[in-house]
Amino acid sequence: MLSAELPHNEVQRQQALERQDLLDTPADPYLDTLTRIARELFAVKTVLISLIDNDRQWFMSRQGLELAETPRCISFCAHAILQDDALVIEDTHLDFRFADNPVVLQSPFIRFYAGQPLHDEDGQTLGTLCLIDPQPRGLDVCERRQLRDMAQLVEGYLRLRHSSRQAEQLRAALSRAQRKAMLDALTQLWNRAGLLHFLPQQQAAAERTGLRLGLLFCDLDHFKQVNDRHGHAAGDQVLWQSARRLSAAVRPQDVVARNGGEEFVILALVHDSTELLQIAERMRLAIAEPAMELDGAQLSQTASVGCALLAPGETAADALERADQALYRAKRGGRNRCEFAATDK
Ligand code: GH3
Ligand code: MG
Ligand code: MG
Repeated sequence: MLSAELPHNEVQRQQALERQDLLDTPADPYLDTLTRIARELFAVKTVLISLIDNDRQWFMSRQGLELAETPRCISFCAHAILQDDALVIEDTHLDFRFADNPVVLQSPFIRFYAGQPLHDEDGQTLGTLCLIDPQPRGLDVCERRQLRDMAQLVEGYLRLRHSSRQAEQLRAALSRAQRKAMLDALTQLWNRAGLLHFLPQQQAAAERTGLRLGLLFCDLDHFKQVNDRHGHAAGDQVLWQSARRLSAAVRPQDVVARNGGEEFVILALVHDSTELLQIAERMRLAIAEPAMELDGAQLSQTASVGCALLAPGETAADALERADQALYRAKRGGRNRCEFAATDK
């Protein structure tokens, strides 16, 4: 196996990557949409947006791969960033650089790889948009153009995102190390520590803007059965897909967290209970339809949602408790439904 050389401008490249502040950030629903489309368009098992960090590649968006990161020394993308155009390996078994790479010999058994370098506005290479499959194959001229086009969309989106107010606020509030400790590795959502960090911030934002802080508890129904019937790995896939769907169902400024197990909490600023219930219903529907995709199979999954508005003078902990009780009512009422904690004024 041949590990990639470092780019001649590695120091500047790494600095550029760090300036973008993309590493160890929660999943981005727009990038996840793009990689999902790419996966269908190219009919490959895996699509990644891979950022090449000091000694690892970290996946900012991933479809069809459970890992959040892998060592740089075995990274295909570390090779791809050395060239201007896509690195296409039609069959890893025929390429001495990759034939005995552990990701070729073992899971995910990579045979085909195509990585299109991603650049920042100064031309520094951050990583790649890459396609991976366990079957050897090629990319025709049209497909190569489509891959370039999609990489261009990713680049454009990352530039806009970098300059957005929301990203600025996030950077101001949290160091990268803090952020990393607040991310859930399986779902790439905020974990409970992240939720507790953002709670007072969202509360303050509600007061500042005159909006109400809505808290939504979403728990997958009969999820234990998924593990029992299909195995823990399938359960993990359902959790991962549920996380993507919930993020896509709410607005970018809403906080989506995995509270633990198969329970998610969303913080959303809203005008009133009607708007909150609309969000709850969108979340419920996002889980229920279409069926979850397991390897070669489909699985019906539903979720119950309990929600509450933070009442004037109420602590966030009390409002969370009321939302949790509403969730309990939704469960008792038959599941796959939303309940609002109406006790607040
Ligand atoms: P209910 O509709 O009442 O919520 O039923 P449920 O089966 O979803 O709830 P219960 O609390 O009985 O079971 C939750 C299950 O979630 C049990 C646990 O094994 C599973 N679980 C929690 N965390 C993970 C995880 O990270 N991966 C997987 N695969 N399963 C998990
Ligand atoms: Mg459950
Ligand atoms: Mg639960």
